[in-house]
Amino acid sequence: MTRMLIIGPPGSGKGTQAERISERLGVVAISTGDIFRANVKGETPLGIEAKKYMDAGDFVPDSVTNNMVRDRLSQDDVENGFLLDGYPRTTAQVDFLDQILAEGEQELDVVLQLTADDEVLVARLLGRAKETGRSDDNETVIRHRLDLYHEQTEAVVAKYAERGILTQVDGIGGIDEVTDRVLTAIESAKAV
Ligand code: AMP
Repeated sequence: MTRMLIIGPPGSGKGTQAERISERLGVVAISTGDIFRANVKGETPLGIEAKKYMDAGDFVPDSVTNNMVRDRLSQDDVENGFLLDGYPRTTAQVDFLDQILAEGEQELDVVLQLTADDEVLVARLLGRAKETGRSDDNETVIRHRLDLYHEQTEAVVAKYAERGILTQVDGIGGIDEVTDRVLTAIESAKAV
C-alpha cells in the first residue's frame, strides 16, 4: 500500500515515470492533467471550463480542480493506494488534500520531486510540441508554466520537505535510468 505524489516541472517526465511507478507498485496513477485533457476532448462542461486556462498555461482554478480530485479519490480503485501526478500544485490544494486524507484517516507515504533545469525543459517541451501538437506546448506558454511552477509549486514542495516526506530525484537522463533512480528513492523513503 503506497499513497504518494509525484511533483515536477512541465517536461520533467513525471507522467511517464508515474505510469511506470504505478505498474511497479500496483497502485493507480491519477493525473489531473490527463483528466482535464480527457474532458476537453469529450467537450464536457468541465473540459470547456478547463480548456481556457490550460491553453494559456494557467492553473485551472482550485475550486474546480479540488472538487474533481475529491471525486476521483472517492472511487474504489484507490483503496490500495494511489499515485497523484500533477496535484497538488498550490498550497491551497495541499490544504484541501490534507483534509480529504484526514477524513479517510489516511496519510501520504512519499512525495517524489523530479528536478530538471529550465532550459533543458524548454528544449524538451518544444520537441514534444512538434510530435504531439499539445496546444499548451508553445514557447510563451511553456515559459509561463515554468514560472508558475517556480512561483507556486515550489512552495508545495517546501511544505512536504518540512514534513520530512520529500524525496528528490534528478529527472535528467534516459527514461529507464530515471525510473531506476525513482524506484530506489521510493523504496528508501518508505523504509525510513
Ligand atoms: P499536466 O499534464 O500535469 O502538465 O497538466 C496540464 C494542465 O492541466 C496544466 O498546465 C493546468 O492548466 C492543468 N492542471 C493540471 N493539474 C492541475 C492542478 N493540480 N491545478 C491546476 N491546474 C492543473
